[in-house]
This record gives sequence, structure tokens and C-alpha cells, in this order.
Amino acid sequence: MPSLDDTDPIVRRRLPTEADKGYEHILLQIKKLIDEMAEESGLKPTAIGIGTPGILDPILQTMKNCNTTALIGKPLKRDLEALLKIKVHIANDANCFALAETHWGVAKQKYPEARMVFGVIMGTGVGGGIVIDGNIWNGHHGIGGEWGHNFLDESGGMCYCGKIGCVETVLSGPALEKYYTKLTGKYLKLKEIDANRATDPAAAETIDRLHHFFGKAMSVLTNILDPDVIVIGGGVGNVDSIYTEGLESLGKFIFNNSVDVKIVKPSLGDSAGVFGAAAIVR
Ligand SMILES: [Zn+2]
Repeated sequence: MPSLDDTDPIVRRRLPTEADKGYEHILLQIKKLIDEMAEESGLKPTAIGIGTPGILDPILQTMKNCNTTALIGKPLKRDLEALLKIKVHIANDANCFALAETHWGVAKQKYPEARMVFGVIMGTGVGGGIVIDGNIWNGHHGIGGEWGHNFLDESGGMCYCGKIGCVETVLSGPALEKYYTKLTGKYLKLKEIDANRATDPAAAETIDRLHHFFGKAMSVLTNILDPDVIVIGGGVGNVDSIYTEGLESLGKFIFNNSVDVKIVKPSLGDSAGVFGAAAIVR
């Protein structure tokens, strides 16, 4: 049995959920993935951990807040346990990310004294997870850390969650790309917008706006939780200037005379969520 410190995967596989084919199909794809991994490794799992956008409602035991909308309202844990005949643990993907970066990633490597780590996902969607003294803080409704749907600015417009101006409508990758398109009529990926900042005024405006609202959104989070470390995952976290100019912007909005919170990149790459999901089984 590999130890908790051993993060070398035995088998690594990806399989698309093909969510457009519906809920039952997602269940079958998960079973297929597990069967394939069992065959390849020669090991049979006795339990599995799943990290997913959205949350298993602690009271109703059905899924909520999922951007894979086919999962909403479904008893995913119960149905998978019936199908796979093993124990299934489900956690929010940002929580899994935060847990993994705390125990094996950047927080463990650089800030082992940190008591509170906030893991942020800024990608297609925006989410977050709180880890206190090494454990996920799920919260009363299971939504602990879901800062992506805090109000940020009306200019973000309508959010899929039904509210206006959520952090996600301003700071997600697609939201930033949409803003650039609004200015220019052209579509560029965020990576390209960031690369063109010095030569393209609309690109500069898009990235400046990112810094401004990043600081604003982070100040709300910092004023309430005051974490030791904030780890930024997701594609928007690859915009290097958020760790300098974004941090300066935080200084303008935080209720403190200086900014000392460490805002850092993750160190486990895009597998962090997978390590975290495995850890919740333990
Ligand atoms: Zn929202």
C-alpha cells in the first residue's frame, strides 16, 4: 500500500465524461474508467474519491451548484455506490485542490507553518476551498469557500447561477475573453491577450481590469478569513502579473495597512484535484 507521502501515480488515465449524453452516461463513463485502471494496475479499489465542480448537499445527498448541469439534483454518490459496489467519497474540486496543495504542494513545501490555506480556482469557472489545520472546511451548507458566486461587479452581467455580477462573471477565463471581445470585436484566448499587453491597448485594459477586480475580490476573502496562504489554480492563475500588480490592487482594498498574505502558484500541476480526491478517502 503506497504511503500518504507517495504521490507517484500507479496508473494515470483520462476519460471524457461526455456529459452531453446525460447523467446515466456519466455514471457508465466513471465505471469504465475505474474498470480500465483496475485492469491496468492489477489492483481493485475498495473505495474511490471523486473531485467535481459542485457539491454533494450534506442534507439532501444530491448534487448542487454543478456546472455540469446534468448532475444537478442527482444522488451521484448513492448511484455510483450501487453501480460500483464500493464506497464513494465526493468532494468539491476546489476543496480537493486546496487539500492537495496544503499536504503535498506549495503550502507544504514553502509555508509548512500555515494554518489556513485558501485554494482558489480561476479557470472556466471560479471556485475555492478552505483548509484549516490540514482539514477541509465544508461549512453548514457545504458551500464553504464558494467565493466565485459572491457579488463583485454588475458589469459582469448575468451568471449561470441566476445572480448578476458574480466574481465568476468578471474573473473567469471566458469572462475576461468576453470583455476583450467587447472592446475589439475580436476573440483571443486569455494567454494571447496577456502576451499582447504591451502592444495592444485593449489587451492592456483587459489585464488591468483583471488586476483591479482580482484585488477587490481577494480583499473580501482576506478580510473575512485572513488566510496565511492563497494558492491560485486554473488558467487565470497563469497570468504572472496578478502576483505583482494584482497583489498591489489587493493592498488598495484590504482592511489593513499592509499585505502579507502569500499569494502563490500551485506546485502539483493539473493533477492536484486528483490527489486531493484520493486524500478524502483516507
Ligand atoms: Zn454566480
